Amino acid sequence: MRMVVGIMVLGQLLTRLLLAAHAGDRLAAARRILRDVPLIDGHNDLPWNIRKFLKNQLRDFRFDDLRETHPWSRSAWSHTDLRRLREGMVAAQFWSAYVPCSSQHLDSVQLALEQIDLIRRLVNKHPQSMVLVSSADGIERAHKDGRLASLIGVEGGHAVGASLAVLRMLYELGARYLTLTHTCNTPWADCSTADEPGQVPHIGGLSNFGKNIVLEMNRLGMMVDLSHVSVPTMLDAMEASRAPVIFSHSSAHALCNSSRNVPDHALRLLAQTGGIVMVSFYPHFISCGEKSTLQDVAAHINHIRKIAGVDHVGIGAGYDGINLTPAGLEDVSKYPELFAELLARGWSEKDIRKLAGLNLIRVFKAVEEEYPIPWPPCCQVNQLWTISDLIKHTNHVSGLDPCNFCSVGVLPIPDTAAAVGKGSYDRGRDGTFRRGNP
Ligand SMILES: [Zn+2]
Repeated sequence: MRMVVGIMVLGQLLTRLLLAAHAGDRLAAARRILRDVPLIDGHNDLPWNIRKFLKNQLRDFRFDDLRETHPWSRSAWSHTDLRRLREGMVAAQFWSAYVPCSSQHLDSVQLALEQIDLIRRLVNKHPQSMVLVSSADGIERAHKDGRLASLIGVEGGHAVGASLAVLRMLYELGARYLTLTHTCNTPWADCSTADEPGQVPHIGGLSNFGKNIVLEMNRLGMMVDLSHVSVPTMLDAMEASRAPVIFSHSSAHALCNSSRNVPDHALRLLAQTGGIVMVSFYPHFISCGEKSTLQDVAAHINHIRKIAGVDHVGIGAGYDGINLTPAGLEDVSKYPELFAELLARGWSEKDIRKLAGLNLIRVFKAVEEEYPIPWPPCCQVNQLWTISDLIKHTNHVSGLDPCNFCSVGVLPIPDTAAAVGKGSYDRGRDGTFRRGNP
């Protein structure tokens, strides 16, 4: 009897050792793949934490390793430094120039400029490790060069101040995606909270001006990011856009019914239009609770693959903008473990390559293609804009004729919004800014 038990224990031990050996092999395989193709993450909120903690002063910021540096070491919001990015084999990061909704119609454009300035200074301060990138080719070059491709994504359509001119200048400064909304409606687009029970839609999707924002982004070669927008806005934007769109940090609504996630019918339209969902790791979007695991994240990736196809899924963890992380994906050093898990679930190396970066590169290249959009789009009296549309949008701003409106492309601020005036965004106090919905 004792011998039988002994054999059983030995058997279990051997099985465990074999499994561990396989897991080790898979992790090695994941690392080998990531040496070959760039791992691209769609969203990281480190710049906002630098604003909160350091008021954007970079002089004493030790980005090489923040694990022992106050206040980063103890902050639940901090998951990113250069050492851990290298461990996680991250090749390209979209840094978020996030602009809080409290600044809408006040100083949102200024905040966007300050956050872009911060990202550019951060990159310039670390020329050995980072390089500012604004193209798909640039990502591939930086990967070969062994430097972190650093890209800029502006989070919150209110950052353009309802002005096509501001949008164009953000592009000139390096922004390569704009998230059409954050947690507030803009005068031209509804955000995801409009989909929540008891909420009344503001527009019911994208207005004509919102569609012109999308067309102008197509013309510029800037990705349209639909994380945070309402479902009608997603559908309107995918219909209006000439180029594929992205979700820089969202997950699957079928597995967690957060309004921040993408429902299956939108995933199907995304597949038809060639776009990509970059999966967020935030437990509230993964398990709809405070706790989740690496395996739960893998399940979201598998679901999006099942509905939209393997060409339409990527990674957009949202580190540094979340204060909870899944077990097994605690910081930016853990991405290879996720790819190893997917290998264990039967993913081929070819498919892992697509998920890691090739899908985003395909979308980015498609966005960079030239789209024959009239410049500026609203100047053309076409199916999108009629004279009566222009007059409707301009007649309550005295002295502004439709031609001015066309060349500058400013949507007048609605009276209600101008009256909000909840106090300008307070940048003097440290650490007191609450981040609403990551
Ligand atoms: Zn976000």
